[in-house]
Order: sequence, then structure tokens, then C-alpha cells
Amino acid sequence: MDSDILDTDVFIAGGGPAGLATGIAIRQRGLRVRVADPSQPPIDKACGEGLMPNTVTSLKELGVSLCPGDAVPFRGIRFINEGVAAEGAFTESYGLGIRRTILHKALVERAEEAGVQCLWGVRVTRIARGEVWLDSRRVQCRWIIAADGQNSQVRKWAALDRGQPQETRYGFRQHFRVAPWTNFVEVHWGSNCQIVVTPVRPDEVCLVVTSRSPRIRLKEALMQFPEIARRLEGGSAITTDLGAISALRVLRTVCRGPVALVGDASGSVDSLTGEGLGLAFRQAEVLAEAIAYDDLARYQAAHRRINRLPEMMSRLLLALENRPKLRRRTILALAKEPRLFERLLAAHTGTFGPPTIGFGDILRLGRRLIADPS
Ligand SMILES: Cc1cc2nc3c(=O)[nH]c(=O)nc-3n(C[C@H](O)[C@H](O)[C@H](O)COP(=O)(O)OP(=O)(O)OC[C@H]3O[C@@H](n4cnc5c(N)ncnc54)[C@H](O)[C@@H]3O)c2cc1C
Repeated sequence: MDSDILDTDVFIAGGGPAGLATGIAIRQRGLRVRVADPSQPPIDKACGEGLMPNTVTSLKELGVSLCPGDAVPFRGIRFINEGVAAEGAFTESYGLGIRRTILHKALVERAEEAGVQCLWGVRVTRIARGEVWLDSRRVQCRWIIAADGQNSQVRKWAALDRGQPQETRYGFRQHFRVAPWTNFVEVHWGSNCQIVVTPVRPDEVCLVVTSRSPRIRLKEALMQFPEIARRLEGGSAITTDLGAISALRVLRTVCRGPVALVGDASGSVDSLTGEGLGLAFRQAEVLAEAIAYDDLARYQAAHRRINRLPEMMSRLLLALENRPKLRRRTILALAKEPRLFERLLAAHTGTFGPPTIGFGDILRLGRRLIADPS
């Protein structure tokens, strides 16, 4: 029925972090925008819950405000492998550990304040040129954005599913009530899995186990990491474990006609990079700009530029995951060269832009890798 037809400039399928950030960025440019998601907020998802410094900056630019106590700052990343710890501190900035539900609530509040019209409990069931269908309801729109996550249906409907084969791993997260023992995000490397520890509240840590097997859960993984198990003694698990797929997926194109992909729907990086949310927020910004200029080709180019380094970092981390000797040598080398780790991290998080890591740094790391016994 015609009375059921809604209309808007931009329709976004998916009200996760990418969809909401894109909605906010589009409203900042004055266009009308609707977002639909089948879930009810705040939406939870398995996540390491660590925001890198440039992700924190993006959140501020979107106008998302966090209350004191909502998040815990962390100073850098610590890799721990076979008893060797390498530490890279962020220079002049900090990351934030934040519960996924708290982050989602803050994004929803900001989106509503900015004038994004959110339809919760509503699934996008079909798209056509200039239209989105929500079961029997039709929405007319100029642009359609797919922010519907890893397994994006909209991506398939728009025939944008082509790309390199993905590397798939599995992640399970759980929260523990225990005072954080570190103000770093810790990545503990085991023989067939990793555990990432993020402080998320003054009395709470988030643990994620990642591996190539969907059967490896935190409980059994902890047997490989007695030092973490000891830290958790006396604390209690306050959430049940929640799983998700962590995939490196690179797509050939992220827009076609009036449809654009954003966030995990537009390709993803391995969760060990801690970059998924940051990518989504940075993509949201350039996508909104491209829409304002009526030119999605700008988005395609910017998306490629934004994703390049995190994709490279994913491949590097997956190589470390796969090759214990290389991992041992690299972490030993980084432990001996903490400044180099810092510079790598600065390049990775874009704190000072790509020139931070130079040829000399790579040469020094190479020499260390060759010199240190495996
Ligand atoms: C184990 C693990 C740990 C991670 N740790 C970190 C970390 O520490 N830091 C970090 O930055 N990133 C991390 N990530 C990555 C991060 O979680 C993702 O990059 C992020 O969730 C992407 O957000 P999104 O909005 O694109 O997708 P999602 O969060 O998946 O949201 C997609 C939304 O689309 C909705 N949807 C689906 N189908 C439809 C439909 N047909 N119509 C409408 N809506 C639909 C879903 O309900 C969902 O709400 C981690 C990922 C994993 C798996």
C-alpha cells in the first residue's frame, strides 16, 4: 500500500557500529538517513573490546561521548610468547577498553541526537534500484548502504561478493570480574590459539580466545596459559562465552550503482589487529563524504587506502600465528627493540602517518631476526 511507503535519502541495512557511524556521518552532512537492524539495542557481539588510539579519535569526531567509568584507557600492546614479553607503548595517545554494549549504547544515543531514524527489530529482506524492502514495507531511497556485517546479504544481492579467498578463524569472548593487572592490551600466543586480555572497567577484564578451530574455547585454552589462569583466580566469570568469526576478507569492489558496503560487510581484517571498529569508523567518514559529493568512486579509492595497512598487518600477524619459529624470533626482536615496536604501532594506528616506520627500522628488525637464535 502506498501509505506504507517510507522515503529517505540514504538507507542503511545494519545498526551495528559501522551502520550507526555512517548514519551519524551522513547526518553531519545534512542528508536524511534511516537505519534498520533486526536486533534490539544495545547489541552485543564477541569482540576484544579494545579501541586503538585512532579509533578513539574517530569516535570523538563523530561526537560520541563516553561517561567517565564507561571505558578504561590502555597504554599500548604487549605480546607474550614462550615467556618473552615485547611491549609497544602508544606515543602521545591512548587506547580504550570498552564493553561492546556500552559502545553500542553511546553510538545509538549519538545517532538519535543527530537525527538518524533507527528502526530496531526490522530486517532488510530485499533491495532493488532505489528501494529497500522490510518484509512487506517498501522504502524509497537514493543510496543503499550495506552495514550488515561479515555475512552481508545486501552484499550478495548487489553482486559485490567477489574478492580474494578469506582466512577464517574463530573468536570467543568472556568477561571476568577481577581488577585488571595491566594497563596494556595483552596478546598471549600459544601453540594453536591466542588469548587477548583487555581491561574494560576498573574491576573487569575481557578475554578473547582466537584460533583456527571452532572447538577451542576459553576454558581449555587457559590450560596453555597458567599465568592468566592464576590472575583470574578469585575473580568470577560475569558473562557466558560468545563466539564470532574473525576473518581476513578482501573484496574487489565495495560499491556498485547506488549501493555501498561499509564495516565488516565491506571486507574485514583478523581480530588480532584490533582494527575492525577503527576501519568501520574511518570508512563511515569517507563514505558520507562521497555521498555528499554524489560520487561513490571517491569512496572506492578511499576504502582501498584505509584498508591497505590493516590488511597487511593481518597477513603479518597470521604469518606469526602459523609459524612458531618466526613468531619466537620476531617477538624476541621486538622485546629487544621496544622503540621499534612503538614505531610499528604508530604506523599501524596511523598516529603519525606511514612515514614513522622507515627503511632503517625494517633493516634493524631484519638484522635482529637473522642474528637471534631460533
Ligand atoms: C573475536 C573478535 C574480536 C574482535 N576484537 C576487536 C577489537 O578488539 N577491536 C576492534 O576494533 N575490532 C574488533 N573486532 C572486529 C569488530 O568486532 C568488527 O569489525 C565490527 O563489529 C564491525 O562492525 P559492523 O557494524 O560492520 O558489523 P556488526 O557488528 O556485525 O553489525 C552488523 C549488524 O547488521 C545487522 N544485520 C544483519 N543482517 C541484516 C539485515 N538483513 N538487515 C538489517 N540489519 C542486518 C546485524 O544484526 C548487526 O547488528 C573483533 C572481531 C572478532 C570476531
